[in-house]
Amino acid sequence: MSGAVAVAEGAAAGRYEIVVGVEVHAQLATRTKLFCGCSTAFGRPPNTQTCPVCLGLPGVLPVVNREAFELAILTALALRCEIPPRTRFDRKNYYYPDLPKNYQISQNYVHLGVRGALALQSGKEISIDNVHIEEDAGKLLHEVPGRSVVDLNRAGIPLVEIASGPDMRSLAEVEDYMETLRLTLLHLGVSECKMQEGNLRFEASISLRPSGETRLGARVEVKNLNSTKNVLDALAYEVERQAALLERGAAVERETRLWDDERRETARMRTKEEAHDYRYFPEPDIPPIAISEEWLARARARLVELPNARRARYAGELGLTPYEAGVLVQDPRLCRYFDALAARAGDAKAAANWLLNDVLARLNERKATVAEFAAAVPPESLAELIDLVKRGAVSGQAARLQVLPAMMETRAPAGAIIRERGLAQISDRDALAPIVEEVLARHAKVVEDVKKGKEQALGFLVGQCMKAAAGKGNPKVFQDLLREALARR
Ligand code: ZN
Ligand code: MN
Repeated sequence: MSGAVAVAEGAAAGRYEIVVGVEVHAQLATRTKLFCGCSTAFGRPPNTQTCPVCLGLPGVLPVVNREAFELAILTALALRCEIPPRTRFDRKNYYYPDLPKNYQISQNYVHLGVRGALALQSGKEISIDNVHIEEDAGKLLHEVPGRSVVDLNRAGIPLVEIASGPDMRSLAEVEDYMETLRLTLLHLGVSECKMQEGNLRFEASISLRPSGETRLGARVEVKNLNSTKNVLDALAYEVERQAALLERGAAVERETRLWDDERRETARMRTKEEAHDYRYFPEPDIPPIAISEEWLARARARLVELPNARRARYAGELGLTPYEAGVLVQDPRLCRYFDALAARAGDAKAAANWLLNDVLARLNERKATVAEFAAAVPPESLAELIDLVKRGAVSGQAARLQVLPAMMETRAPAGAIIRERGLAQISDRDALAPIVEEVLARHAKVVEDVKKGKEQALGFLVGQCMKAAAGKGNPKVFQDLLREALARR
């Protein structure tokens, strides 16, 4: 990112304002495809998840996947779109070897959602032009030179396409938009957002105009951007390229360009096609779909607190640091666990400390998920452990290093593990007082040092008490008892 900004702000680029819009294709998290019952599982052998419908064989009819449709409604609602009472599908005609029907079923005339908005982390609102549903195409593989093969497992996978307005004015805003949108889809459960599995794909359009100019410049679309880093690098490259053209008094052509991952540059793919090139027409095999108020109400009930609102609540109301809030918000399951834990423990700060410092480290070690952790140690169990530490029933160190791992291993409650493994901490003053007296008697020289004001000497005495109590004594109580005893001498 820092590199991209440096380029974008370099040389002639500074005299121009950049105008960016982003299109996202997100795979909807359904078990089956958009118009047939084939599995959407990732990574299976080529062409093992196909049927006459997604192979585009003649004489078959598509049936809309209700869950995919509802996830798309949820997306449109979260992005504050207007949703028409009736929507429908259209055919987008084009010829490509990974598209056996020679058309893609998409939405062109009546989008599922229009005129929405998404608030960035920075607070700026980016308008959402439209949200619509469409099917994915297959995948061409060019692994053997001179020969290409097609895998149609992906053909017919449900996608939601989200097109922003041309509202972004810097690469930092583009990055903020992509991250906010990704987390929004993740928290809604609309998409798994696994970039490495192609769940989330970006296209961006960018134009430049002299600072102060209000008309938009010629727009260049950049495709083949499979990571957010590539989006930012491709845009930085385009800023330089277009600024150089404008400086020379040349025109920027309206076109589509491909990002070349190896050469780290964009290259012309084709001059921009117009919508009429696709010969869109209403899909005759799928009747229009009426979206009732009742259906919308059911979808609204599935809305969740969105990531930026959650981040603000954690850092504001709950007093976490922006860093802690940011880490929690990366994982909606971790957020739900944290909410339950903080409520149970009555201490958000302690809940965040335990999760971020101890639990996540152990999950990383074991390559385990938050869901697996929650099954072994539900929030109420971890809240109990936090409470036992606070009450001095077990030391913080024993709780972290011994009790928590044992809870993950055995699924037993904290109290039982402390009892069975003899990890209880003794906080009873009457039980600890004789040890203090004995230690003071044995170390008359150190006592003198403390009385002369050597504070570190007190630490030595606490250590001796801990040793005498075989590590079971509460160091805080020992410290109190020592201070009291020394004050009396
Ligand atoms: Zn199929
Ligand atoms: Mn599309």
